[in-house]
Amino acid sequence: MTDPACRNCHRIVEDSETCPVCRSTSLTENWRGYVVIIDPKRSKIAEKLNVEHPGKYALKVR
Ligand SMILES: [Zn+2]
Repeated sequence: MTDPACRNCHRIVEDSETCPVCRSTSLTENWRGYVVIIDPKRSKIAEKLNVEHPGKYALKVR
């Protein structure tokens, strides 16, 4: 089973109906590729995705 990703901030949401980062309930299983961001302040990808919290993020969300 695929965990859904948040349409708003791309966070991959596990065991929840609500995004833990932005509190959005707009989740989709239609996403591709993911990155694990451990230290958002030192990550270029985090900067590009506008990520401020560590976690798993989808690269492409539809
Ligand atoms: Zn979110």
